[in-house]
Amino acid sequence: RFITFEGGEGAGKSTQVRLLAESLRGRKREVVLTREPGGADGAEAIRTLLVSGAVDRWDARTEALLHSAARRDHLVRTVWPALERGAWVICDRFADSTLAYQGYGHGLDRALIGQLAEVTMGRFRPDLTLILDLPVEEGLKRAGGRGGAEDRYERMGLDFHQRLRQGFLAIASAEPRRCAVIDATRSPEAVHQDILAAVTTRLDS
Ligand code: C5P
Repeated sequence: RFITFEGGEGAGKSTQVRLLAESLRGRKREVVLTREPGGADGAEAIRTLLVSGAVDRWDARTEALLHSAARRDHLVRTVWPALERGAWVICDRFADSTLAYQGYGHGLDRALIGQLAEVTMGRFRPDLTLILDLPVEEGLKRAGGRGGAEDRYERMGLDFHQRLRQGFLAIASAEPRRCAVIDATRSPEAVHQDILAAVTTRLDS
């Protein structure tokens, strides 16, 4: 099974990814925890290009191509082999982030992003996508407290983050069978319980 987590800045994805992995391991499943951009040697090298800030501003299409190249490497080296041997793979961000950030956020043509997805992964899709949703101001407040100004994305304007949030919600309503929207304003434990419920009912685990 392939489960992806999506959401804007400060939604608590990394905490929830870890909690879900622990729960599933408790059920004696092999769990591979991974992230995008990254999750394989080549993809992590591309991540450095994307988030280190060495290049201040990629053109949106170039950026989408870099994310796609990283994704392909990650799928080929990490995700597909793990799924092949029956592991559950949990991924912090995946293709919906490309649609939300480069598409809804930076205004790149969404049909073009669909074509890139086709080139990168054919018809492959996550079995379940958990979209952690919370008001933009709240997320930025949390992310600001983190202090790790690792990337330039958190410095985008408020309206950029509003478009991101709307983008993720639009993706969820376009594909309700694949996506579950999780209210991320509550305590980490309450959010985790919702996620477990979604995993159990939707993936029949
Ligand atoms: O998951 P995390 O928030 O650490 O993601 C790393 C950064 O990469 C984020 O700040 C996100 O804004 C950015 N990103 C992006 N486009 C993507 C995926 C991630 O701008 N397609």
